[in-house]
Amino acid sequence: MAETQLLDGLGRRVDYLRMSVTDRCDFRCVYCMAEEMTFLPRQQILGLEEIARLAKLFVEQGVKKIRLTGGEPLVRRGIVGLCQDIAALPGLRELVMTTNGSQLVKLAQPLADAGVKRLNISLDSLNPVKFRAITRTGDLHQVLDGIEAARRAGFASVKLNVVVMKGRNADEVPDLVDYAVQRGLDISFIEEMPLGHVGRSRGEAFCSSDEVRTLIGQRYNLIDSTENTGGPARYARIEGHPDSRVGFISPHSHNFCSTCNRVRMTAEGRLLLCLGHENSIDMRALVRRHPTTDEPLLKALHGALQRKPARHEFASNGDVQVLRFMNASGG
Ligand code: SAM
Ligand code: SF4
Repeated sequence: MAETQLLDGLGRRVDYLRMSVTDRCDFRCVYCMAEEMTFLPRQQILGLEEIARLAKLFVEQGVKKIRLTGGEPLVRRGIVGLCQDIAALPGLRELVMTTNGSQLVKLAQPLADAGVKRLNISLDSLNPVKFRAITRTGDLHQVLDGIEAARRAGFASVKLNVVVMKGRNADEVPDLVDYAVQRGLDISFIEEMPLGHVGRSRGEAFCSSDEVRTLIGQRYNLIDSTENTGGPARYARIEGHPDSRVGFISPHSHNFCSTCNRVRMTAEGRLLLCLGHENSIDMRALVRRHPTTDEPLLKALHGALQRKPARHEFASNGDVQVLRFMNASGG
């Protein structure tokens, strides 16, 4: 029997689902949130069982990889049990998670035991004062301890994510690479995306991947690689350090839409076809209206995929075109 596949209107195969399990977070990163945030009322957020049902439905339709994200996924109560349920879905190749690391001292091992394969951990600075300024509430040492707990917990990989901003952490790029290299971790540098009004202009802090590459070049020799981990990062090897790679995620300077293989589910159950577009379908309404039959959900899903946009349209001046905050859509 032919394998079930989700194909969009342009023939791209969608086998990767990112699910935001909460819009809440214990941090308020300057690029992601405003200082004062109003979070969604709880009844508007998908329940854990609703998330598990949607995950199952997508996997039955050919999704091979699910990433749980947020907000901060580890502030959602019941997250470990949810991971266990999703990881056990037949046909799913891997369940992975993106986290800010603040809860990993206590949760790294339970997550690994529940079947989470890989973790991406955000780490924007190694300086406690700057780290606090970027995250507004975060404690660097808690996160560094969390990274160590994750390294011990037996994940297939632990990777680091850095959003680079001029005047905030661009000067630390080579030190962050040192940190990754000393631990044999991969590290990806992300260009800031204009999602939501965060109370400042984004253009002035914008640091392109090419600029980040030049900064790293002051200390390391990077060798381009064609490796692909199924995401938008372009990877480079680091001469003399075979255990680490440097990734560049460049939504502005290198458009990766033509190979896009993903869709996103927001915490309130909106299926987003593209991070750079507002159009979405309300899966929560369908889940609640049809508690026992999947047919209407499948019809909506396949119909929506036909309308997945060809590409995002972030302006190069960093202006906001998408009013959602990143925490609502889950990176
Ligand atoms: N709270 C978790 C974390 O910070 O890793 C998961 C959710 S967070 C929204 C997912 C990723 O999106 C993080 O790596 C974060 O740095 C990144 N991110 C958030 N806002 C961004 C923005 N405006 N531009 C680029 N990356 C952003
Ligand atoms: Fe929270 Fe992650 Fe957004 Fe930072 S990037 S505020 S940790 S959701």
